[in-house]
Amino acid sequence: MENWESYVRKVVPYVPGEQPDREKMIKLNTNENPYPPSPKVLEALRQLDADRLRLYPEPDCGVLVNAIAQYYGLDSSQVFVGVGSDDVLAMIFQTFFQSDRPILFPDITYSFYDVWADLFRIPYQTKPLDENFRIRKEDYCQRSGGVIFPNPNAPTGVLMDLSEVEEIIAANRDVIVVVDEAYIDFGGVSALPLIQTYKNLLVVQTFSKSRSLAGMRIGFAMGNPKLIRYINDVKYSFNSYTMNRTSLLLGAAAIRDREYFEQTTAKIIQTREWLKQELTDLGFSFPDSKSNFVFATHKSVPAKQIFEALQERDIYVRYFAKERIDNYLRISVGTREEMEQFIHILRQYFASFSFQSKSTACRR
Ligand code: PMP
Repeated sequence: MENWESYVRKVVPYVPGEQPDREKMIKLNTNENPYPPSPKVLEALRQLDADRLRLYPEPDCGVLVNAIAQYYGLDSSQVFVGVGSDDVLAMIFQTFFQSDRPILFPDITYSFYDVWADLFRIPYQTKPLDENFRIRKEDYCQRSGGVIFPNPNAPTGVLMDLSEVEEIIAANRDVIVVVDEAYIDFGGVSALPLIQTYKNLLVVQTFSKSRSLAGMRIGFAMGNPKLIRYINDVKYSFNSYTMNRTSLLLGAAAIRDREYFEQTTAKIIQTREWLKQELTDLGFSFPDSKSNFVFATHKSVPAKQIFEALQERDIYVRYFAKERIDNYLRISVGTREEMEQFIHILRQYFASFSFQSKSTACRR
């Protein structure tokens, strides 16, 4: 007998961080920006003409593509936009990773890569980070079906030097190299200028982190016009209208406000550096982060235990029950006030430990 279930595409989906809806929580679990979108975005939202929602949006996303191109000094033929960088990356996987050879990415990295590879039946090989959670560039200089890595990497926050990124791109001219720069605006150096030299390079960025628009879902890729054309062909074979009118307008307003972007990213970087010092004082260690999160482990208390204790106190951070990183917490950088409260609560929590161990000692 035919069994329909044999013909189901079975996949293990990506699990995003929780989005709890509680009034007084401190949410440090999905690397969102703690600051609101630019006032220019709010203004564009107020001016939105609801009547026009009866019309389809522009399929080529012109208003947003042009605004991004103008911001980065590119031609609009070098820019592709999608529904968050997740959508852009998924399109890229489908478009360029069609080889029988495995694509390469780090063993500890954005955990959507293997999900897309499985979904699209793309063979892949993971390359272990070194003991300091660094990507070893030599691992990516073999023949493969393509290469993808985030810079800075997630969830570690570790930034690779641009010279090393370039070595990987240069060693892979026969396949596509994707540099996922979701967190580049928090102190990294972008590989973007290299798209003029390397026709095999795609740089992917997002409005979800540094531009405070995770809720709008806007991501983009930049690269050689030929690559952008190929991604667009796949997009138009899938859904002509991926981006809605509101996203296009608000996204364009956001990217035009360079000053607000620079102010808010500077504040996050400053708070991150303060947070690193406070965490060190509390007995945490972490690889140096150039992103809007810190990936930290404690010298004596297991990460899972801290994670649960924080959750009981309405503070959400991210914990991955995964080999090599199951004693780490990924802590997004919130406002200075949120982080002061977070540190205060952690300090109280650790103080209760030393009190407990003292009282145990007394009983003995
Ligand atoms: N790449 C990396 C490395 C990420 O951490 C994320 C955030 N989850 C994304 C891409 C996707 O972000 P978005 O779809 O919100 O642009």
